[in-house]
Amino acid sequence: MSVFSHPEYQDHEHVAFNYDARSGLKAIIAIHNTHLGPALGGCRMWPYASDEEALRDVLRLSRGMTYKSAIANLKLGGGKAVIIGDPRTGKTDALLHAMGDFIESLGGRYITAEDSGTKVADIATIAERTGHISGLVAGSEHGGDPSPTTAYGVFVGLKTAVRYRFGKSDLAGLKVALQGVGNVGFRLAKHLRDAGAEIYVTDIFEQNVDRAVAELGATAVSGDAIWNLDVDVFAPCALGASINDDTIPKLKAAIVAGAANNQLATEAHGEVLRQREILYAPDYVINAGGIIDAYYQRQGGSREQLMAHVEGIDKTLEEIFSRSERENLPTHSVANKMAEERFFK
Ligand code: NAD
Repeated sequence: MSVFSHPEYQDHEHVAFNYDARSGLKAIIAIHNTHLGPALGGCRMWPYASDEEALRDVLRLSRGMTYKSAIANLKLGGGKAVIIGDPRTGKTDALLHAMGDFIESLGGRYITAEDSGTKVADIATIAERTGHISGLVAGSEHGGDPSPTTAYGVFVGLKTAVRYRFGKSDLAGLKVALQGVGNVGFRLAKHLRDAGAEIYVTDIFEQNVDRAVAELGATAVSGDAIWNLDVDVFAPCALGASINDDTIPKLKAAIVAGAANNQLATEAHGEVLRQREILYAPDYVINAGGIIDAYYQRQGGSREQLMAHVEGIDKTLEEIFSRSERENLPTHSVANKMAEERFFK
């Protein structure tokens, strides 16, 4: 297995491997860049089929965190941790303590948080061994689930895209299709409903669709039909790679703006959207509310300061959209350039 020559290595500052014989912990922490501050990123636990797969995942995710924090104007770098193991059967206090010791050994260059396979209670156990954690700061006004802040940030960014594309600030009558109405999607749908938008929803979990219909007056749509709807905005709020060769030709929406991470199946799909004149709000820019929330949980600060920071997504997206037009580049490429201008300083 190569490390420095790994295709995803790309300028990582530090990659640490840890094996703890007593607990069986096998973990990797990747720190991509700390020019703007300590590297913050979640700790994922997953039964990776191979060490190679775990390394690829942690490198890719940590780099993404550098871009996300830089574009959100946070004094944070990018990092991520993975524990190789099954989160349903492999989690013990000893293993989480060993993970805490591993994080502590890096002296604060990496700060951890929840991710797939780790919950608030797991981070609390890790926190028995290290203070380099986010999301559990005693006395924080914002403690807990970042989804409401993420949803608000996506709502702010969706309004920016509507203003840019349609020249209007009023969402009354705007038609929005949401793929996924879970923690973030449901709250986004509520903001949209409150602003007078017409919402169409799909979800593979039927109860989530029923809740959106009953509580928000949403129109339920099948998983296939959501793509072809004659709507103004398509909001991906489920899994990644939803914008791909199959789905782009079906889209009638003029805007793609939603919460999901890694929406574009490949970078090339951003250019395909641009050619079809579909305005794409880059995922890591519009869904940054969660990381901004984590930052304030750690640093402190009032709710007003947190919300004002999240509302900064508006200005950032406006700049991305206008630079994309001026420079004839897809919006995600402009976002990457802007983030690099900040963290390479
Ligand atoms: P969630 O699991 O609560 O919601 C996702 C919903 O999508 C679920 O209801 C699920 O049933 C549904 N879904 C899955 N596959 C689907 C499909 N093919 N078609 C339709 N629905 C499908 O997760 P969440 O916290 O709401 O996060 C949603 C997305 O936003 C994820 O991509 C996540 O990585 C991203 N995100 C979340 C946060 C946050 O603060 N929670 C922050 C940044 C990014």
